Amino acid sequence: MIGLLGFAGLWALGRWRGWGERWLLFAGLWWALLVLVHLPVLAGNPASRVLGGDFRAWLVFGLLGGLALAYREGLRALRRRKVAAPEPSATPTFRETELERYARHILLREIGGAGQKRLKAARVLVVGAGGLGSPALLYLAGAGVGTIGVIDSDVVEGSNLQRQVIHTDARIGMPKVFSAEAAMKALNPFIEVRPYNRKLDDENAAGLVGDYDLVLDGTDDFDTRDLVNRACVAAGVPLISGAITQWEGQLSLYHPAQGGPCYACVFPVRPAPGLAPSCAEAGVAAPLPGVIGAMMAMEAVKWITGAGTGLSGRLMIHDALLAETRVIGVKRRTDCAVCGSKTG
Ligand SMILES: [Zn+2]
Repeated sequence: MIGLLGFAGLWALGRWRGWGERWLLFAGLWWALLVLVHLPVLAGNPASRVLGGDFRAWLVFGLLGGLALAYREGLRALRRRKVAAPEPSATPTFRETELERYARHILLREIGGAGQKRLKAARVLVVGAGGLGSPALLYLAGAGVGTIGVIDSDVVEGSNLQRQVIHTDARIGMPKVFSAEAAMKALNPFIEVRPYNRKLDDENAAGLVGDYDLVLDGTDDFDTRDLVNRACVAAGVPLISGAITQWEGQLSLYHPAQGGPCYACVFPVRPAPGLAPSCAEAGVAAPLPGVIGAMMAMEAVKWITGAGTGLSGRLMIHDALLAETRVIGVKRRTDCAVCGSKTG
């Protein structure tokens, strides 16, 4: 009995002196002493009679105590692991304010800290800072894509502002790439923006595309789309291409290096003049480029982080008038003029 009271006394003394967990050390010593004085070879000595109990009882008591301690430590370790799960995000490459900024991404199982690091390391080129480029650029910037290139030779006009929401009335007359740069840096100062105030042409396309991991094309003429596609196929860089007119839009991811079709596999011939009118000729509903451009940014984030299933080999078509979205399969053509001879 006195042996048990000894443990209670040590615990109380520990509480009083503020020993914390150290009282367990004294309790362990006390238990060792109890076992010692109860050793069969010492049977019958006065100390064992005073302290009470017998050898086996104290051994079982010690075993149970040890198990309880091990169980508690196991629980603590599990809890520590749970708390430490998002640790990859706490790398020195992110500042504290960045971790706060991207917290909603880091919470996602499919992105997490590792995905956010991939986003920061990614270099994405957006061709065109117009209707599709506006939301795509803003969401890429917000998502924390580390390096964003944007190429366009136009200046902001009043008629753009109905849908090109990256620009502002005060920036009418400014080259679109500088207006887009200002908006992106205002949204997220932790990214690098590279504005190219020129038209993408045969001379600069290959060199520029080769500097990036992924290209988004939101231009509205066939020749530029074809040029972007050729440069991407040649460099082995995946291309997310979107298009809109009036009430309908479409997008896909083209990456023949991984077995999917290229843009020319799906759209091999230049449409006859007048058959594919531009937004300036045919008109476009203001939120439509927002819908398709945001989807392009979504596919970019998925591609970079490896989340979910991408749109390679699938063309997504959105009909805003009917409020319908459908996805059709598209295949690579072995006789494709752009990617056919290269890898087929
Ligand atoms: Zn092709």
